Amino acid sequence: MASKTRKVLQPQYVGRFQCTGSACEDSCCVGWHVAIDKETYRIYRDCPDMELRLKMGKKVTRNRSTASDTDYAKIKLNDDGGCPFLDQDRMCSVQRKLGEQFLSVTCTTYPRISTTVNGSLEKTLTFSCPEAARLALLNPARMEFDEIEEDNHVRNFINRDPLDTEDKKVAHKPQKYFWELRIFIITLLQDRSYPIWQRLVILGFFCARLSELENGGRVHEIPQAINTYQKRVAEGMYREELQTVPNNLLIQMELLTELISQRMFAGVNHKGFMDCFAEFSSGINHTEEAMVEKLIEGYDSAYTKYYQPFMEQHEHVLENYIVNSIFKNLFPFSGEKNIFDNYAMLIIHYAMIKMLLIGISGFHKENFAIDHVLKTIQSFTKVIEHENTYLAAVFKFIKDNDLNNMPYMAALIKN
Ligand code: SF4
Repeated sequence: MASKTRKVLQPQYVGRFQCTGSACEDSCCVGWHVAIDKETYRIYRDCPDMELRLKMGKKVTRNRSTASDTDYAKIKLNDDGGCPFLDQDRMCSVQRKLGEQFLSVTCTTYPRISTTVNGSLEKTLTFSCPEAARLALLNPARMEFDEIEEDNHVRNFINRDPLDTEDKKVAHKPQKYFWELRIFIITLLQDRSYPIWQRLVILGFFCARLSELENGGRVHEIPQAINTYQKRVAEGMYREELQTVPNNLLIQMELLTELISQRMFAGVNHKGFMDCFAEFSSGINHTEEAMVEKLIEGYDSAYTKYYQPFMEQHEHVLENYIVNSIFKNLFPFSGEKNIFDNYAMLIIHYAMIKMLLIGISGFHKENFAIDHVLKTIQSFTKVIEHENTYLAAVFKFIKDNDLNNMPYMAALIKN
């Protein structure tokens, strides 16, 4: 008889997640596209509650051009950006009146994001949800993972193609060694005998080596490469070389402000992110007339006086952010064809968050606190990480300008 449950691998914080509902400071029912899957759209046409059926008829509209079974229709938001099904208590009237089974896949599953590896389900939460960000980022302990049993009826939002390390198609590809790579990479990123910037630079060296082996048709040497890096990291053999990594604040300021400005020009209606960007600008003394040298001075001063002393006590926040991203995106196979390009996109995310936080620390000075860090990462995730079109443009910019190389990435990482 078929099992009624299935195994799910997930970070431990996922099991502790509870939506905060009407108390949520940045509800997922406000301010962004709510996709309705085909099955739910069909059910809403015959909704048993007449008042809701009338509203669904007006407010749930088909995607004529780009419809897919998971993104078949959408909810037309109110002028204030809120979902029209939110009631006066800021709770979902569909769920309250009809129950969870009448919610769409998006509304049921958010902030959970699922993938499958070798046919097994994996689940993480996106940090665009403030409660998910709090649970994962504030835990000073290293992120740990559990394999739990889940009822087969639980709905999941699978956001990418499955990864199968035993598939013949990857027999001569790095994906064959996914598990060995994942375990080494997460162990490296949780090795607190190195500051986070050094872990990220070592990861860059390693990803460059993986791309070299892949491009050279020597994928079978990956297990040996992992052993070599494990040994060198354990014996501290990179420490001397890491001390010679130069910082280049001009590159950071020029590239990262350009990338964030591109996102702002594309239109941001998220108050939290706008606040963060305004505090960042003010924190580095940005004015229309300010020369880049003046900005770098403000940026470097904020880093030295406020950001670095604070983050030295809270580096686990950035570690948890990166480890969650590595696990969620099946890194180093997280979307781009080339492994080093996936590394470059990971560093771009990290560097943009770091730059914003440095400016914001300069704005709040001694009062710079963990809530500022949480708000920045949460609103950054909502405004940047869910914007695939923007991220594709960022990647093209990096490629077209030949910025996807180790010296450039190191310049973005080190302050
Ligand atoms: S963002 Fe998270 S905590 Fe807030 S309403 Fe949505 S699921 Fe709940």
